[in-house]
Amino acid sequence: MGRLISIVSGKGGTGKTTTTANLAIALGKYEQKVCAVDADLTMANLSLVMGLDDVDVTIHDVLAGEAKIEDAIYPTKYENVEVVPAAVDWENVIKADPRNLPKVIGPLKNRFDFVLIDCPAGLQMDAMSAMLSSEEAIIVTNPEISCMTDSMKVGVVLKKAGLVILGFILNRYGRSENDIPPDVAEEVMEIPLLAVIPEDPAVREATLEGIPVVAYKPKSKGAKAFLQLAEKIIEIG
Ligand code: ADP
Ligand code: MG
Repeated sequence: MGRLISIVSGKGGTGKTTTTANLAIALGKYEQKVCAVDADLTMANLSLVMGLDDVDVTIHDVLAGEAKIEDAIYPTKYENVEVVPAAVDWENVIKADPRNLPKVIGPLKNRFDFVLIDCPAGLQMDAMSAMLSSEEAIIVTNPEISCMTDSMKVGVVLKKAGLVILGFILNRYGRSENDIPPDVAEEVMEIPLLAVIPEDPAVREATLEGIPVVAYKPKSKGAKAFLQLAEKIIEIG
């Protein structure tokens, strides 16, 4: 049986999609069979970040009961990595029922070592459905206090719901002098710090290219941090 892991946050823009894409490719490099699922149904961009074009059937069709999940799984140019993309147009968004996410995503654990779920931010219904499709969660936060407190709220709710909180990622560290340092962040969050991902221009460049940094510039600081994260996630399984 594989592991169902959601990538979550309190606020938007913390780096969930970046983490999902890079962790997927990094786990794939370590011979793990990975499926990255875009469950951010209204702000989908995982396939853009992973450079997947030419998709026809998406998770929206599956959630609307118009297709099977098998038809929405696409190979990528990255070894061992497949993706379930989401649609971006409004017609698709309104026809899909987010409440179906757990029953659509859950069975994927029979086919992959890792199912990584790129979730919407916050605790609204669509975010809850996406997060509750998983059994474990990784919280992505930036080193600033309001971002961290919102992340903690999500962590508390998920823990109550019975998920295993693997820990948090401190992303975009070093962007400002006022960044909360990792040791303080870990004390505040009261969950394990899984990785510190530095602010790295290579990450943004990679996003623009549609090639996640782990593949685009594997020797960059950002890429190395994501590779270490993958090792840790395998280790704590
Ligand atoms: P979310 O999915 O949580 O909304 P994204 O993963 O889309 O966030 O990231 C938001 C933006 O921040 C993207 O443009 C991405 O390239 C950039 N970004 C994320 N992490 C880093 C990093 N460590 N260094 C530099 N830019 C980053
Ligand atoms: Mg995102």
